[in-house]
Amino acid sequence: MKILLLGSGAREHALARALAADPVAAELVVAPGNPGTARVATNLHIDPVSPTEVVELAEQMGADLVVVGPEAPLVAGVADAVRQAGIPCFGPGAEAARLEGSKAFAKEVMAAASVPTAEAAVCATEAELAAALDRFGAPHVVKDDGLAAGKGVVVTDDRAVALAHGLACLGKEGGRVVVEDYLDGPEVSLFCVCDGATVRPLAPAQDFKRLGEGDTGPNTGGMGAYTPLTWAPSDIGEQVVAEVAQPVVDEMARRGTAFIGLLYCGLALTSRGLRVVEFNVRFGDPETQAVLARLTSSLPELLLAAATGRLAEVPAPQWSEQAAVDVVVAAPGYPGEVSAGGIITGVEEAEKVEGVHVLHAGTGRDEVGRLVATGGRVLSVVALGDTVAQARGRAYEAVGHIRLEGAQVRPDIALGR
Ligand code: AMP
Repeated sequence: MKILLLGSGAREHALARALAADPVAAELVVAPGNPGTARVATNLHIDPVSPTEVVELAEQMGADLVVVGPEAPLVAGVADAVRQAGIPCFGPGAEAARLEGSKAFAKEVMAAASVPTAEAAVCATEAELAAALDRFGAPHVVKDDGLAAGKGVVVTDDRAVALAHGLACLGKEGGRVVVEDYLDGPEVSLFCVCDGATVRPLAPAQDFKRLGEGDTGPNTGGMGAYTPLTWAPSDIGEQVVAEVAQPVVDEMARRGTAFIGLLYCGLALTSRGLRVVEFNVRFGDPETQAVLARLTSSLPELLLAAATGRLAEVPAPQWSEQAAVDVVVAAPGYPGEVSAGGIITGVEEAEKVEGVHVLHAGTGRDEVGRLVATGGRVLSVVALGDTVAQARGRAYEAVGHIRLEGAQVRPDIALGR
């Protein structure tokens, strides 16, 4: 199988590693990739958001499967273009990708499919925003309607902060803002592989979105994750498929915009039952790094089956009994303005810790070949262990070997579980 994988984060390094683990993946190209994906695949520099460039490369290499990592190419219609060229693609078309691209659209689909979620108001003016803040009360949950790389959401008790964020979202061209009910209870991320009709859940995980210890500080793209969730109901996967993913996939099919790819269900287990916090239309970062570390069955076979409408014919994914913990190393300044260029050392030492592998995200090489930080989240340090506690201990021991001036690491990923 010849596979083209789009993206350049730690998620894509995790995907590349899992795809390459099965010898069926005879050729694996990552575009544009990063220094980590270069260890398991061939990196090629194209613009992954350009449908023309992606199709050209996929045709040139005779790809049997294109896997789209990030959301931006999906929203830009890359998956549509690839399928139009007759090449199987794991990733939804632009219309189905609106489940992530527009929070208002996601709410509309959930209402049509009777999927439980927070009550919400979509606001287009300051007056509507102010009225919604008063109606829902504190804690205020204010979300940018469009794509914001996980950073468009503010949850705060401070009405002035909520209003300011809402106004900033409205200030963008055609900006809309969603104000919604606060959901209490622990969060679960459940990835569902979909072929337009059939849905297969992956192992549930939890991510840590806030920058600081004890869930303080701003929201980020995610500072770490772990799996399995020993405290969650053992049938959470089946429950989410039945109550959330299958109804949404059926609704998208009914609309003529089949959902093929990864439906990421972000859920809150509230005192009133399971509620959807958000959908993403691609593998989540950093949960993917932990989830795929436990996958023992073939990822290429699973994704190809989904891309070709044969998911019902292949066996369900298989999992190691081990736990996996992923701790993100972020550059100074993240999630605000990042200061890049810092030299990174100690990755090899980190990987000598039992059960550990290090995934690259915002890394590059300087002119003399040294590894340097180039972006917000720089590395994902992933550890397997017999228990979450053991995996956690190993992950932090490994992080202790990594040197990057000003690096930010949350000290409490998977703590207390
Ligand atoms: P989202 O981008 O919608 O996933 O929001 C990012 C994060 O904000 C979520 O993972 C939650 O931690 C938090 N959040 C979003 N919506 C709510 C809500 N209705 N109630 C409480 N927290 C929320």
